[in-house]
Amino acid sequence: MSILEPREELASIAASLRAYLEWQVDCGSSGIPRRPREARAAAVAVQPTTPGVVTSAPEPTIAEKDDPPAPPLASPSSNVRSPAPPSDVPDSFTPGTLPPIMLAESTMPAPAVRAKPAAPPPVQTAVAPPRPLPVLLSEVSSCTKCGLHETRTNTVFSRGNPEAKLCFVGEAPGADEDAQGLPFVGRAGQLLDKMIKAMGLDPEKDVYVCNIIKCRPPNNRRPEPDEVAMCIPYLHEQIAQVDPKVIVALGNTSVGTLLGTTVGITRVRGTWKLYRGKIPVMPTYHPSYLLRPSPQQSEAKRQAWEDLQAVMKELGLSKPAR
Ligand code: SF4
Repeated sequence: MSILEPREELASIAASLRAYLEWQVDCGSSGIPRRPREARAAAVAVQPTTPGVVTSAPEPTIAEKDDPPAPPLASPSSNVRSPAPPSDVPDSFTPGTLPPIMLAESTMPAPAVRAKPAAPPPVQTAVAPPRPLPVLLSEVSSCTKCGLHETRTNTVFSRGNPEAKLCFVGEAPGADEDAQGLPFVGRAGQLLDKMIKAMGLDPEKDVYVCNIIKCRPPNNRRPEPDEVAMCIPYLHEQIAQVDPKVIVALGNTSVGTLLGTTVGITRVRGTWKLYRGKIPVMPTYHPSYLLRPSPQQSEAKRQAWEDLQAVMKELGLSKPAR
């Protein structure tokens, strides 16, 4: 290939340009078509340039002027590539618009699993051991935890043997008990002793007798719930210290308090229950009810004796001759 002088090269280019323009006139063109400024700039940007060589791409026709601008040309040799979508990105996501947290997750090592905080140690509920009976007796004798202390003559703690296997629990002291400071010493107490003897037992040596309430309610009324709530801890400690094999609950207040039930005595009597899940309880009528004349009196006495016979059987006592 011969190397032309600059003047000769310029003349050659001019001749080529003239031939091109004459060809355009022959095709019916009335002017020199021009590409939009943006397209020209883009074309220049992607055209490889060779120093000293002017390249000319074929010009589009005039009809192309109303067409939308062509997208930027991508050179096959260009190193600029569209980022490939991450393989784990859902189709609905556009690459580059992923939430930062997702991009971070794909490039960062998985965070260390935080160790679960150790479970707190189980709360140890401190259960105070029951106090000795003399300590309880002393505290009860000066107790003012409820309003009944204002009208009492004496507190009434217990009678009988604290080592006994059988414990009778009544409701509250009456007038005689309040006067003497001992439970079940009035008419009801005398009947209770007869019942105990009928079982072949000694009322002073073989049984332990106490009440839910330690002070007499005025006019022998029923104890109020708040009075029971104040006084019942003494009885719980008493029973824990005596630890009887069987408890006989006498009447509605005793049965309801020891067993936490509102079922009436006529329905619950004669059926074994458990005090605090471990000591068998036999609910039966209160002796004062058995003393009260009524159409049901004889039947109630028969039922009470039936209940005591079940207690004897539970304790392994022989059936006394009647
Ligand atoms: S009834 Fe019980 S709680 Fe109330 S003053 Fe007497 S001993 Fe205390």
